[in-house]
Amino acid sequence: MLNAIAELAARLIWLLRTLPNAVFAGLAWGLVLLGIWQILAAGRDTVRRSQAMHQIPCAGCQFFTNDHRLKCPVHPQAAMTAEAVNCSDFEQAVF
Ligand code: SF4
Repeated sequence: MLNAIAELAARLIWLLRTLPNAVFAGLAWGLVLLGIWQILAAGRDTVRRSQAMHQIPCAGCQFFTNDHRLKCPVHPQAAMTAEAVNCSDFEQAVF
């Protein structure tokens, strides 16, 4: 039993020593490139979400109350959400 474990360990060590460094270097570079790709994808999603949020017109609407209890008496469910992007009741606020 002990000989089998020792033989298995010896084969494992031999296998680890004979694997080319290029495989590990390839794996390392793959991880680095994957991390860079994830950062770029997160940045792209942030820009898209920001652009979508800036299309919501409620902040410039005269019906917007700026009160968290009732943001809009006309469309209380849609106010400050993506549903309000093409709101037909939008009226430019006059300050
Ligand atoms: S009327 Fe429409 S645009 Fe104006 S605050 Fe209400 S949901 Fe937003």
